[in-house]
Amino acid sequence: MEFKELGLAEELLRAIAEEGYVEPTPIQAKAIPLVLLGKDLMGAAQTGTGKTASFTLPLLHRMKAHANTSASPARHPIRALILTPTRELAVQVWESVRTYSKHLPLRSTVVYGGVDIQPQIQDLRAGVEILVATPGRLLDHVQQKTLQLGQVEFLVLDEADRMLDMGFIPDIKRILALLPARRQSLLFSATFSEDIRRLADDFMREPIMVEVARRNSVTETVTHALYRVPELRKRELLARLVLDRDLKQVLVFVRTRLGANRLANQLVRDGIDATAIHSNRTQAERTDALQAFKDGKVRVLVATDVAARGLDIDSLPCVINFELPHVPEDYVHRIGRTGRAGQSGEAISLVAPPEQELLERIEKLLKATIEERVLAGFDGEARPSAGRPPRDGGRDGSRDTSRDAGRDAAREGRREGARSDTPRPPREGTSAARPPRPAPRREEDPFFSKPYEAGTPSDKPERPAPAVSAVRGAAARPVAALFRPPVTGPKR
Ligand code: AMP
Repeated sequence: MEFKELGLAEELLRAIAEEGYVEPTPIQAKAIPLVLLGKDLMGAAQTGTGKTASFTLPLLHRMKAHANTSASPARHPIRALILTPTRELAVQVWESVRTYSKHLPLRSTVVYGGVDIQPQIQDLRAGVEILVATPGRLLDHVQQKTLQLGQVEFLVLDEADRMLDMGFIPDIKRILALLPARRQSLLFSATFSEDIRRLADDFMREPIMVEVARRNSVTETVTHALYRVPELRKRELLARLVLDRDLKQVLVFVRTRLGANRLANQLVRDGIDATAIHSNRTQAERTDALQAFKDGKVRVLVATDVAARGLDIDSLPCVINFELPHVPEDYVHRIGRTGRAGQSGEAISLVAPPEQELLERIEKLLKATIEERVLAGFDGEARPSAGRPPRDGGRDGSRDTSRDAGRDAAREGRREGARSDTPRPPREGTSAARPPRPAPRREEDPFFSKPYEAGTPSDKPERPAPAVSAVRGAAARPVAALFRPPVTGPKR
């Protein structure tokens, strides 16, 4: 199918062609005609499927009738409101809005917390048709009466599952109460829990469900591998993987903000350019870190789940789970950063013995066994020699040279299965038989999870330049690969 068959305005088709997109991705092919018809829609699609364009393009098409070049703010009321859970996602969605609307006289802006509210007020005063916002800052503006939502015709809730996780639902409900009842509502979510469906029932009119990904499935273009390693040697193994394999752009996930800072600092001491992105850093620091990573100035970006949500980095070749997530669905979100738009990607997990149960839960969710690899020197007590690193054998330079693996395991407490460069045989029913342990508390970004509090107009003096992707180019890209299980061998 070609974009022009979707009946989109010529200005939009031109912008799409300039981006190098050849054909719509499946979510776009399914969602765009329905949104053009004015239907409410629930889209089951993860970041990486092209979902942003699937709602942005038809909304811009529908708003084209209102597009005008008048200088009067009154001629530019907010007609489309797009809510996102994080600042990074808000900026990325806004970038897409600007990209696709560049040939139409429609105005847009983005508002999010953690930065000075004044420049946002000025943008809003000038009048914008499309507003991308995080819920808390939007409510700040509502309280300060710096915007009007009475003419909103289109509402989008992006990454609704994450909004729910972050405790945003009360804020969302407050915002919904301020919108006209007659409007078109779209909701996108990677997963559809009962809570999401209940939320949708509250504010949507006979929504049509559009799915392109099976729940919690992963892209087939991503290969998954794991290395078993004692906790204390993870950093060393990570540095080895980055240096030996000459990885140029790696997103590394940890569970805590403190852990992110510590790891980034240690990597820098190891001679690897690294920086951390997490919610305790200022917005300017986060934006700078992301930009440096996208520009290739920083090789390793260490991120927490909250901060990395929705990051759109084209062609990211490798994601490393330095620590496994407590919630298995987060594994799917994490590895969604790689293997995007049809390109191949690699997801590597460093698994310490105490993480065995987390691994089993992830494999159960994926319905697949993740291939286990061994790197010489990390297979027991033997440490890599100080000078030249030992030569690795086997696939991916990996082989099992372990003689002392048992001692290692004893020291770490618990270990299942022998290390080998061949995939582990599937464990039979281990994860199913064991009752799941209640998930430990996840890292929370207090900025997002605290109940709404009116912000002060002078939160912070800076307003960073939006993180414009340097690599979002005009080169033709393959159509986004779609989500299909399984990953490696089927799990019996
Ligand atoms: P999203 O799921 O909206 O975060 O989009 C993921 C990536 O796919 C973004 O980098 C988009 O620029 C890209 N993309 C969106 N639509 C298409 C398309 N039709 N063909 C190729 N790439 C696309």
